[in-house]
Amino acid sequence: MSLLADYRIPFVGLKPGKHEFQMRVDPEFFACFPHSDVDQVHGEVLVELDKLDTTMTLRLELAAQMTAPCDRCLEDVSISLQGSDRISVRFGDETLMEDELWILGTKEYELDVAQAIFQLVHLSKPRRLIHEKEEDCDLDMTEWQDDSTDDGDDTKDIDPRWAALKGLDN
Ligand SMILES: [Zn+2]
Repeated sequence: MSLLADYRIPFVGLKPGKHEFQMRVDPEFFACFPHSDVDQVHGEVLVELDKLDTTMTLRLELAAQMTAPCDRCLEDVSISLQGSDRISVRFGDETLMEDELWILGTKEYELDVAQAIFQLVHLSKPRRLIHEKEEDCDLDMTEWQDDSTDDGDDTKDIDPRWAALKGLDN
């Protein structure tokens, strides 16, 4: 879990104003979360922290590349993920973190953005992962899928070496 330490911003020592941080998103990062349904993502999140006297604003900008099996042909497809998020940070008596508003209790001294980055990646994921053009799909794969749906006729795609052996038998 120590890897996630890189995703904490110690805001107490920062001067008022804007600060930028680049945070990696990669399979190692997602491995820190037990319920991630993505892992082959490579890219980064640019985190901008705007620190004012009594409030702070976090802006997250995701730019990454994701690889996953195509929903149509099952071959890997690579798609770019882009997204952004904005979180307002206030100070209060007790820590209360919601999606877009974090209230920090008096004992807090750093901002843990790992969970926010994790969510941003999942929200940026398209509902369907698919090759953009149908002709980019692996046709051998789609044919194979079509074959598997019609039951019975398995002579069509028989290995030619087996076909030869069959010929010897007859
Ligand atoms: Zn495809």
